[in-house]
Amino acid sequence: MKIHFLGAAQTVTGSCYVVEACGKRFCVDCGLHQGNKAIEERNRSKLYRPADIDFIFITHAHMDHSGLLPRMTREGFTGPIYCTKATRDLLELLLQDSAHIQEMEAMWEAKKYLRRGLKNPPSALYSVEDAQKTAAQFHIVEYHAVVEPAPGIKAIYYNAGHILGAGTLRLEAHEQGKTTSIIFSGDIGRPQALIVRDAESPPQADYIFMESTYGDRDHKDEKRSVEELGQAIAYSHDRGGKVIIPAFAVERTQEILYCLHLLADQGKLPPDMPVFVDSPLAIRATEVFERNQELFDTQARQMLCKGDNPFKLPCMRFALSKEESQAINDYDGPAIIISASGMCNAGRVRHHLRHNIWKPEASIVFVGYQGVGTPGRKIVEKAQKISLFGEDVEVAARIFTINGFSGHAGQSQLLQWLEPLYHAQASIVLTHGESSAQATLAEMIHQRFGIKTHIANYLEELELTGRDHQAATVVLHEAQAHPRVNWDFLTGEIDRKWGMFKKNVNVLQQRPWVEQTEVQDAVEKLDYALTRLLSRM
Ligand SMILES: [Zn+2]
Ligand SMILES: [Zn+2]
Repeated sequence: MKIHFLGAAQTVTGSCYVVEACGKRFCVDCGLHQGNKAIEERNRSKLYRPADIDFIFITHAHMDHSGLLPRMTREGFTGPIYCTKATRDLLELLLQDSAHIQEMEAMWEAKKYLRRGLKNPPSALYSVEDAQKTAAQFHIVEYHAVVEPAPGIKAIYYNAGHILGAGTLRLEAHEQGKTTSIIFSGDIGRPQALIVRDAESPPQADYIFMESTYGDRDHKDEKRSVEELGQAIAYSHDRGGKVIIPAFAVERTQEILYCLHLLADQGKLPPDMPVFVDSPLAIRATEVFERNQELFDTQARQMLCKGDNPFKLPCMRFALSKEESQAINDYDGPAIIISASGMCNAGRVRHHLRHNIWKPEASIVFVGYQGVGTPGRKIVEKAQKISLFGEDVEVAARIFTINGFSGHAGQSQLLQWLEPLYHAQASIVLTHGESSAQATLAEMIHQRFGIKTHIANYLEELELTGRDHQAATVVLHEAQAHPRVNWDFLTGEIDRKWGMFKKNVNVLQQRPWVEQTEVQDAVEKLDYALTRLLSRM
């Protein structure tokens, strides 16, 4: 049995394991890689022909676990995609939304290429039509039901407590007279999360592939989250400013609405402070939640029983169209704006930030994980200026980071999740985390259980022997995974061109004053770009 790590190895995005067992080849998750250009290039990898993949298991509807599905379909994958019902419901919305974003981005790039006289702009990863075709490949699997996609392979989903429909997958492969069992944790939820039930513990297994996003820290006092949100609201209400909450359209937005509902009950949501939900996707995702109430935890269901919809507020307004979204900026007076994306790297929230982040009376409330390199991460890490639509904007708003809403288990909760699964022969492989978080969690697991964990690398292959679980063979593809950056070439080119420029300054001085000042403008921009670059080194 072989596992090939195609993503979420020493990073959090691009979750995808390619598994070879019982003569079949299949994927567990098929997620988008998100980050800089070199990282996103991995989305176009040609390591496997999609037509050679027999079937796919999806743990949950987040794009970093499922966002490459339409690309698989587009390039010839025709097999079934197994997932829970709520995951299917959410993916029908999210994949089309993702496809729409891909198409728009490709269109903007094509225009940019055209304006610059360049040829061959990058094409969209996939189209809305591809996403619609993918939807026909979903096969719903109930939690705890056994699915047998091929002879010798059995799998069961357990509630992962992460988002609506999220599952931990326990897989058994029977080959050569031996059964090997593996747990793919998927993303592990935080106990006591609002709305969804807590994660379940599947039966023990030989191998545990475990996420480690928050392997190096615990969340702040979780009970204080509602209170902290209340403080942000009071801060901006007193000063007549707006509260901007960048939030993923799925789960986080519904949790925030739920939380505002609780604050309203406590009289801490001022009646003159409207709540704008500015994301058509969030509005539709909320409807999916309302259709899957059987997955809610006790508190949310009790609320429903009393006829109280946890996602409804008296002063809530939805913005579906672009015009409605723009009109929010004309609204005078304090307001709460919930908008995507959660990391501020795309979507309507960037417009709200541009209108508000430079105002001391505004507050920006972060309620989710902020990936490396995203504007959200920069703001959380106290950047004084932030680049929005190519313009540097000062950060003067009050920044709140509320960890208690995280969809992921914190360090001690990860250890708690592992506790019942641990046994002396278990092999633990850490995935879905940044290297430093993984190193810390590996150390904690060693201290607590006395076993060493393996931290998977991008493109690494793991041969599971099934006999001695600790002795899995590792094959690395380092040169392919991390192609060397050619610094000599880059610095050489810049040196050469700068040398040419300096040689030509004499000639430049003979030119008319207006021409010289135009070049001066260009050089000043170059100098500013270099200064910014140096400040990051
Ligand atoms: Zn997730
Ligand atoms: Zn994830």
